[in-house]
Amino acid sequence: MLKIGLTGGIGSGKSIVGKAFEMMGIPIYVADVEAKRLMASDFGVRDLLISRFGRQVYDSNFNLNRKLLAEIVFHDETSLKDINAIVHPAVREDFSRWCEQFVEKPYVIQESAIIFDSGLYKSFDKIITVTAEEELRIGRVVKRDAASREQIIERMKNQLPESVRLERADFVIYNNADLILPQIIQIDKQIRSLIKK
Ligand code: ATP
Repeated sequence: MLKIGLTGGIGSGKSIVGKAFEMMGIPIYVADVEAKRLMASDFGVRDLLISRFGRQVYDSNFNLNRKLLAEIVFHDETSLKDINAIVHPAVREDFSRWCEQFVEKPYVIQESAIIFDSGLYKSFDKIITVTAEEELRIGRVVKRDAASREQIIERMKNQLPESVRLERADFVIYNNADLILPQIIQIDKQIRSLIKK
C-alpha cells in the first residue's frame, strides 16, 4: 500500500480533490482535521500542551481554548513552533496507525497544506500538488470563508511559494478552468501502475 501526500496552497482545491479520490474508494486522512481532534482529545498531546502553555489552555471540561492558544501564538512566534513540535509527531503516529486498517488498498492519501514545510514529504511515496491561479484561489476563499481579500493574501504570505509546491510534486492537478476528474483518473492510473512494477 502506497502513501500519497496531497497538498496545495490555500483555496487550491485540495479538499475537493481529496473528496473525489474518496469517492473512488481511496481512504483519505485530512491532517488538519485530525490534528484538531488530537489537540482536543489525545491525552498525550493534552499533557504536553498543558506543560508548555499552562492548565488554562483547556477549560474545566478539558475543552481546548482555541482562542487563548491563538492569542498566545499571535504574541509569541516561538509558541507556534512549540505547538507544531507537539502536534506534528502525534499526527505522524496517528496516521501510521490509521494506515494499518487499509493494507488491502492500493494506496491511501494524506491531505495536508504543510507537507513540504513540515518535512513530512519524505515519508510519502508520491506527492500530488493541486494548483490554481492566485486570483481564482483568492476569490474562492473569499466566497467560502466570507473573509476579506487582504486576510486571504496575508494567509497566502505565510505559506510556501507556489513554485516550491509545484517543483517538488510528482503529480500536479490544475484546478483553473480545467476539469479535475480526468486528471484525477489519470493520476490514479499512474499510481496503480507503480504498484504493479
Ligand atoms: P484550504 O487550504 O483553504 O482548506 P483547499 O485547498 O482545501 O483550501 P477547497 O476548500 O477544496 O480548497 O476549495 C476552496 C473553495 O473553492 C471551496 O469553496 C471550493 O468549493 C471552491 N472550488 C474549488 N475548486 C473549484 C472549482 N474548480 N470551481 C469552482 N469552485 C471551486
